[in-house]
Amino acid sequence: MTPRDRAYVGGEWIATDRRFAVTDPATGEHLADVSDADAALTRQAVDAAADAWPAWRAKTAHERAGVVRRLRALHAEREDELARLLTREQGKPLAEARGEIRYAASFYEFFAEEALRPHGETIPSPFPGHRLLTFRQPIGVGAAITPWNFPSAMIARKLAPALAAGCTFVLKPSELTPLSALALAALCEEAGVPKGVVNVVPTSEAAPVGEVLTGDARVRALSFTGSTAVGKRLYRACADTVKKVSLELGGNAPFLVFDDADLDAAADGLMVAKLRNGGQTCVAANRILVQRSVHDAFVERVAARLRGVRVGPGLEEGVALGPLVNRPSFDKVAGHVDDARAKGATLHLGGSAHELGRTFYAPTLLTGVTTEMRMANEETFGPALGVMAFDTEEEAIALANDTPAGLAAYFYARDVGRVFRVAEALEVGMVGVGTGLVSTAVAPFGGVKESGLGREGSRHGMEEWTEVKYVCLGP
Ligand code: ADP
Repeated sequence: MTPRDRAYVGGEWIATDRRFAVTDPATGEHLADVSDADAALTRQAVDAAADAWPAWRAKTAHERAGVVRRLRALHAEREDELARLLTREQGKPLAEARGEIRYAASFYEFFAEEALRPHGETIPSPFPGHRLLTFRQPIGVGAAITPWNFPSAMIARKLAPALAAGCTFVLKPSELTPLSALALAALCEEAGVPKGVVNVVPTSEAAPVGEVLTGDARVRALSFTGSTAVGKRLYRACADTVKKVSLELGGNAPFLVFDDADLDAAADGLMVAKLRNGGQTCVAANRILVQRSVHDAFVERVAARLRGVRVGPGLEEGVALGPLVNRPSFDKVAGHVDDARAKGATLHLGGSAHELGRTFYAPTLLTGVTTEMRMANEETFGPALGVMAFDTEEEAIALANDTPAGLAAYFYARDVGRVFRVAEALEVGMVGVGTGLVSTAVAPFGGVKESGLGREGSRHGMEEWTEVKYVCLGP
């Protein structure tokens, strides 16, 4: 697939004088020079989305569903090309990239169906002769700002419900992975999305583009996935125009292993929860809490699995762990490991750069991690696992909840009373019990506390893009 390298605004591919480079994290190879949108081009994109809105919202839900369904079909048809492009700009193993394209497609599938069901209500009236009704209406122009770790799926879970609901859309993808976003724009064109309904403004300077999207009163909703620090800034910036804000921010997921757990299943689950996308997911297991009586047996099982992980460029057959996305990400992982060792953690495996160099970091296992260490308090976002021991269920829950983040949590236990107690006590938006993978288009994804606002996926995902209107009909 020849990468698209221009902004997509009002149905036109727009070249700018200024461009920025996109590189392959596994090889350092230059992939493309992409148009660099500024505030003026972003305003044009909002103009286009605002102009396109009346006609798009006036289409029947069935017509919109048809367009979204075609996006799903195109993802299936082009899966291989899209996955290769994704691996090249982002680094994840090709099998995972294919999985991501299928995951993205599942949002188009789900919301094409959901387009047909944002039902209103009729409410029994307390006033004689009146009729009380509600409608669900599209909110208007929506803006999305998305990260690099899932360059395709993080857009799909915003765009699919937005289109289904009848909104128009301006997207600012991550500067590290604009090519997947522009490939999607090309698919939108092919799927028959009318001009101006979807606009993509890649940029190397996020702040001025972000200021237009948060400051323009015509943009009625902002959906952001990314760091907590940037999310808070955007939330504040949306206050002046009181936008509907949906935020998927950082996590600090605890992964708890109780003494009644199946330790092999737990170790397998941890590999998925920790190593998917090289640990670069907001739902990655970040604090591994293990009951003392099974600690050593569990650590042994994890070490054995980590030793078998093949590291390499994502396009190479059989690779399970790719490079980190860039040097700052590498430095963060190395910093967490060094900090933990300096504060007394025990190293079992890895602990340094992988022999492949660049941004490849060796799978790493530490025990004796404490709450004073950086890895217990910040997302490591890499293949370094730090284990803490606990004695009682109460202590485990207190440790798990001892963070401002509240996105995902995982635990392994078999006692049914404990399963319910712990699932209810964890302060998070999503809990995996006996599994290391919870994400699916049909279930609500999102966090509590400082991990965010709103839910994506499932029927709740439509609510971010619609408003309830109440109509009171007099006698
Ligand atoms: P990450 O740590 O995952 O890179 P960021 O929050 O830095 O998380 O990035 C997520 C998205 O937010 C990216 O598209 C990035 O360009 C964008 N972004 C970063 N800073 C700003 C800003 N000041 N205004 C708008 N968008 C921003």
